[in-house]
Amino acid sequence: MADVVVVGGGIIGLTAARRLQQRGADVTIWTAHDVRDTVSSVAAAVWYPTHTDDDPRVRRWAASAYREFMRQADAGVPGVMVRHTRMVLRSPLAALPWWARSIGDAVLAGGELRFSAPLVEMDTYLAWLLSQLVDGGATVVRRRPVSLAAASAAAPIVVNATGLAARELCGDTAVYPVRGHIVLADNPGLVESVRDEDNPAGLTYVHPRGDDVVLGGTFEEGLSSVAPDPVEAAAIVRRCGAVVPELSGVRVRGSRIGLRPARRGGPRVEAEGQVIHAYGHGGAGVTLSWGCADDVASWGDHLA
Ligand SMILES: Cc1cc2nc3c(=O)[nH]c(=O)nc-3n(C[C@H](O)[C@H](O)[C@H](O)COP(=O)(O)OP(=O)(O)OC[C@H]3O[C@@H](n4cnc5c(N)ncnc54)[C@H](O)[C@@H]3O)c2cc1C
Repeated sequence: MADVVVVGGGIIGLTAARRLQQRGADVTIWTAHDVRDTVSSVAAAVWYPTHTDDDPRVRRWAASAYREFMRQADAGVPGVMVRHTRMVLRSPLAALPWWARSIGDAVLAGGELRFSAPLVEMDTYLAWLLSQLVDGGATVVRRRPVSLAAASAAAPIVVNATGLAARELCGDTAVYPVRGHIVLADNPGLVESVRDEDNPAGLTYVHPRGDDVVLGGTFEEGLSSVAPDPVEAAAIVRRCGAVVPELSGVRVRGSRIGLRPARRGGPRVEAEGQVIHAYGHGGAGVTLSWGCADDVASWGDHLA
């Protein structure tokens, strides 16, 4: 019998599993989806605490994940890079926003907030994370959606990292979807990220990776359709091109649409009996991941 079953193979489940493993636990991961079909694989995956509150836990998780991704970028972990970012300020800020205070080089200048931030190419990164887990002795099992009771029968400690599915799995009606749409295009040579959160035409962001660039986006609370929307995709490309003219005429590779697992009151990261809940990270699951994983691992020590 494993020490811990982690239900969920997205960024929250995999980072939690890795931290538990690093503390000596024998971990099994149960996932209903291939990692490439999780919401995590859709993420633009820039470190940025989208729609989070200035809550001490969020601040701590975000700062910790920032440090970890910066360390991983430095160590050459596949898929992790650092981008200088220009955030357009539609109204002036008197001081750095709360989340930027943990970033060493964040400055307000020329009507912009400028800072360095990790950016993650998720398909590459999730595959690397899985390989680290498997090399460390973890078992990953692809299975039909399971109940927490079934997981509890298989290990003394269970981590519930099921994202949006937690709404049904543990009856948490505070969990709701926020639809997000990004477009991938050829990178015309960009190396700097640009965000224009309050663009009157709609949320706009440009995140160059290697040979492609992520163009975003949408943040649609309560919408749960992931059907393709070519009109919306064209509008995203237009908005991004207006902010970054180098994008004019770039070849579009396709769209990715996913449902962010949001939760009123913020992420739930706490133990209930022998179950450690870790879900509801909304638009900031990557940004908070390694910080939350440390908390999950501490709960694991406490329950063992
Ligand atoms: C368009 C878009 C852009 C985004 N951009 C960013 C960004 O730039 N930065 C950022 O930080 N975040 C971003 N996000 C948000 C981020 O993707 C999410 O917060 C994160 O992926 C949530 O991860 P998760 O592991 O909780 O959920 P998921 O990735 O959804 O994983 C849930 C896992 O649980 C499994 N599961 C569910 N129910 C069961 C069950 N009953 N039995 C077994 N397994 C089950 C699933 O199979 C899956 O493996 C973005 C999201 C979208 C859609």
